[in-house]
Amino acid sequence: MTNSKTFGARLTIDLDAIVENYKLLRGTFTGEECAGVVKANAYGLGADHVAPTLYQAGCKTFFVAHLNEGIALRGILPEADIHILNGPLPGSESYFAEHRLVPVLNSLGAIEAWKHFAQSQNGRNIPPSDIHLDSGMLRLGLPPDEINRLIQEPERLDGVTVNYFLSHLACATELENPLNQQHLESFLSDVKILPETKKSFCGSSAIFIGPEFHFDLARPGAALYGINPLPGRPNPMRQVVRLQGKILQVRDVDTPQTVGYGATHRVTRKGKIATVAVGYADGFFRSLSNCGCGYVGDIRVPIVGRVSMDLITLDVTEVPEQQLQTGRLIDLIGPHYDIDAIAEDAGTIGYEVLTAMGSRYERVYSSNNG
Ligand SMILES: *Cc1c(COP(=O)(O)O)cnc(C)c1O
Repeated sequence: MTNSKTFGARLTIDLDAIVENYKLLRGTFTGEECAGVVKANAYGLGADHVAPTLYQAGCKTFFVAHLNEGIALRGILPEADIHILNGPLPGSESYFAEHRLVPVLNSLGAIEAWKHFAQSQNGRNIPPSDIHLDSGMLRLGLPPDEINRLIQEPERLDGVTVNYFLSHLACATELENPLNQQHLESFLSDVKILPETKKSFCGSSAIFIGPEFHFDLARPGAALYGINPLPGRPNPMRQVVRLQGKILQVRDVDTPQTVGYGATHRVTRKGKIATVAVGYADGFFRSLSNCGCGYVGDIRVPIVGRVSMDLITLDVTEVPEQQLQTGRLIDLIGPHYDIDAIAEDAGTIGYEVLTAMGSRYERVYSSNNG
């Protein structure tokens, strides 16, 4: 069943590259500790492989979004610190205690509920919590009026052990965006008057903006997986994924004809079209119709016609016949066409390309460290 002959496409995930990326981030970060963000199944790459690899590389703190993801991760990493970004929903508090998960408290209401839960436990060991201050993202976290109330009524934190005050930047991928400085100042002015606690402010991109954004704990995700933290500049990260689809059929075309649904591509000269076993049901974006590409060795082969559910068609006219046998692999994400390049052609970001990758791919984890 798991024989690679049974799959139409192969996704290779380079665990050594993830480790190198972690080490680069940790080396660039000037604070105390670099965590790993493994939400959404480690950005689609498989938390069951990625998280233990990071743990072995020295990463002891992890962030996920949902409680559910944290419970699963606890089963994989019995000793790690696991933080839940979305925080507790009403009635879910006991699961945090049972699985020793750190909730990120995103509102005064959440702080109140957590405190109430802790008091109801009669001295039972309760995990510490983080408090998320919204410094301008307007998404999760205490809004400014709630932060002010917390400052005026510090007793709201009595009996609550706070690990970190955290915040998150809205425009960290844009080095020069003045909002970064503005959000930093807002965070600084809040934490100055709140009780002295460790702080966590940066994801992947902010690590590269500068040390004033670092504080105590970094929370990178994307850069671990090879996404360029500073788009438009050279990518300091190693590529992690390679996606290869298998050739199912090659057609010689010598009369004018159209390719695929909607007849959106017209072949006008003598050429060859290869049909490859990857489609939008695999998370291969339909917006790559007539605009993405693959590579056979060093030869670029453009996607022609629409991406359909299970198939794409590529113009392989330039490729020598002997490289086009049925079953041969064509690179769809790889050394010549990386995660950011395909995302740009698809009209999205690398994050979405990674997390969209479906379950039909054969997943191969490569590592030289066993
Ligand atoms: C997803 C997320 C991160 C990780 O961001 P990357 O850009 O992937 O490094 C960090 N902090 C919070 C609050 C997040 O939601």
